[in-house]
Amino acid sequence: MGLRSFMKTLLLLLCLGLLAPTTLPAEVASPAKKPVAQSTIQRPAYSESFTVDQLRSFAFEALRSAYPDFNFKLVNGKLVFPDGTSLPFDDGLDRSPQALLDAPDIFDMFFYRYPSLAQRKGPQATTGTAVHDPNDGALTLPMSLPYLADPGRIRNENFFQQMYGSTEEAVKQRLAPVKWIPSGKGPTMMVTTINGVNKALQAVSDELDKLPELWPYLLRPGGSFTWRPIAGTNRLSVHSFGAAVDINVEKSNYWRNVNQDEEARLDYKNRIPAKIVEVFERHGFIWGGWWYHYDTMHFEYRPELIAYMKVVEHARAVK
Ligand SMILES: [Zn+2]
Repeated sequence: MGLRSFMKTLLLLLCLGLLAPTTLPAEVASPAKKPVAQSTIQRPAYSESFTVDQLRSFAFEALRSAYPDFNFKLVNGKLVFPDGTSLPFDDGLDRSPQALLDAPDIFDMFFYRYPSLAQRKGPQATTGTAVHDPNDGALTLPMSLPYLADPGRIRNENFFQQMYGSTEEAVKQRLAPVKWIPSGKGPTMMVTTINGVNKALQAVSDELDKLPELWPYLLRPGGSFTWRPIAGTNRLSVHSFGAAVDINVEKSNYWRNVNQDEEARLDYKNRIPAKIVEVFERHGFIWGGWWYHYDTMHFEYRPELIAYMKVVEHARAVK
């Protein structure tokens, strides 16, 4: 985005008093309200006093540390892969929430912050918007989420195709089985070996395998690899890349089952215990339950988003 519009957004955020770094707005969804004008979507709070250049370098640093096998380079504003392929990193365009979903550049993937559960802990992290999870009093989950903010749902498709494969066949060649909750006789899940996603998912399974009280949420999973678009869109799901899993559909909530309209005011709903989210996040998976367009069965391997928040936190601490 341009510097001028960035400053404008920053000013707007200041006026709205939304700059508290880790606080989710306590706004309660109201079905009657019409959506705000798309162009005035709030830049997330982490923008704070960092310049766009700084945020861009935080994002690049996060990509490098999250995907070390790709040894990314940034050359003339392009993200360069080991085979020489380069993709635009930041085209400087401001996008509406819908355009962020439909055609984001790579930097746009970091537009909405994704604080992990671990990062959401702390005195001001959960004020007004979280409840203690009955399954684990130390962890908290949201009661509502900021309007249209979908951290992790913004994906540059070329970036994922370049990493995981651009056709069903190419992705399939790199899949490996993961034994899912073997003590509970769970099924085999097929996920990609690229970026060690299969190892990360096996580590998630090994931990959750020891917590039988959580198995009802995990067994009978909705699936892993499937080459398919996201329901109601032309965008490929991360399931297409073998880098996402759905846990038990019957214990899950999905925004589209309530309202098909992307701009609708939704009441947030979730039944997935925080402990499950905490384990997945620790192994690099983000949770669809943190999206305004919630999909609480869905976990996908996006360690760059978790890494980005760590980089931002670090930069804030040393300021
Ligand atoms: Zn899913």
